[in-house]
Amino acid sequence: MSRVADWIRPEILAAKPYQVADARGLIKLDAMEAPSGPPADVQADWQTWLGGVDWHRYPDGTGQGVKQALRAHFEIGPELGILLGNGSDEIIQMLTLALARPRASLLTPAPGFAIYGVAARTAGMAIHYLALDETDFSLDPDAAIAAIERHQPALVFIANPNNPTGNFFPRETLHRLAEATPGLLVVDEAYFPHSRAHCLDMAGRPDNLAVMRTLSKAGMAGLRLGWLVADPAWIDALERIRMPYNINAFTQAAAEFALKQPQWWQALAAELRERRDRLVERLGQDDRVQVWPSEANFVLLRVPDAVAVFEGMKAEGVLVKCLHGQHPALQHCLRLTVGSETENEHMLAALDVGLRAC
Ligand code: PMP
Repeated sequence: MSRVADWIRPEILAAKPYQVADARGLIKLDAMEAPSGPPADVQADWQTWLGGVDWHRYPDGTGQGVKQALRAHFEIGPELGILLGNGSDEIIQMLTLALARPRASLLTPAPGFAIYGVAARTAGMAIHYLALDETDFSLDPDAAIAAIERHQPALVFIANPNNPTGNFFPRETLHRLAEATPGLLVVDEAYFPHSRAHCLDMAGRPDNLAVMRTLSKAGMAGLRLGWLVADPAWIDALERIRMPYNINAFTQAAAEFALKQPQWWQALAAELRERRDRLVERLGQDDRVQVWPSEANFVLLRVPDAVAVFEGMKAEGVLVKCLHGQHPALQHCLRLTVGSETENEHMLAALDVGLRAC
């Protein structure tokens, strides 16, 4: 018998590693990546800039350059602190580690982003879910406040827009929820480039409301840079558990460049928003499927048989995300990332083939 089972906690042994689908040879529309990077001239300047990175030394452990560029680009005032993470996933992990203690719990809407639960479980926190409306995925503020009062969570995560449902929760609701939360409420704005509404100006107001963002959905998923904007007291506490050089030198340099030259990724996001709205409109005309409006760079779709359509699309060379079985409200649902014009056409053709086979 291996001694692993004696030493690794049973809840960790019971968990499955996060699965990343094998996308080789497929049009990859499963993970909300942007279909393209910067144009050739920006790419060339970027590479020259990266050529200057001193990689025989550790990177700047405080990430000053990136933080300054974030402050300048997003107009984050000195009254707020910033924590950098190796993707926002690492920030989620740092938050759960910092706030875990016996009987501490995490509260988050369901269906929602799976990593909150993964991180909470690893840190030893109890997890409670707030059920979203099964028709439009809205959040009933009174029911949410009642759940907060009942569970007294140390940490509340609200992805806004929500993944995988794509809807935006009203700012007033989030404000009310933060006021009721005994610990920290984090508004996860991973999809900020694609959303018509935002909450960044609410960071620190009230002082237990923090806003988390990432460059991942802005066309830079490979960089792995996320950040949390919060009242400095929260950031100071989190700095105590951050590993010294969590943001590597290349990511720091690349992110600084991207924040100082944002035109290409902002234009890309604008194109994707427009393409998403057209996709929702087109899918809305197909009475074989149910589609929800989206404020993110993906679209949630219900089909008659999600597994068959998913496999049918894959056979046609298109990889999307099958959500069937993840939550009762996601029965027969697929999540389609908005791609390039050509990718979307391939995806719609593959979807048609998949639907015909149902
Ligand atoms: N939050 C949400 C809601 C997400 O959907 C994702 C990525 N799927 C993340 C955070 C993680 O982003 P990152 O790439 O910055 O770790």
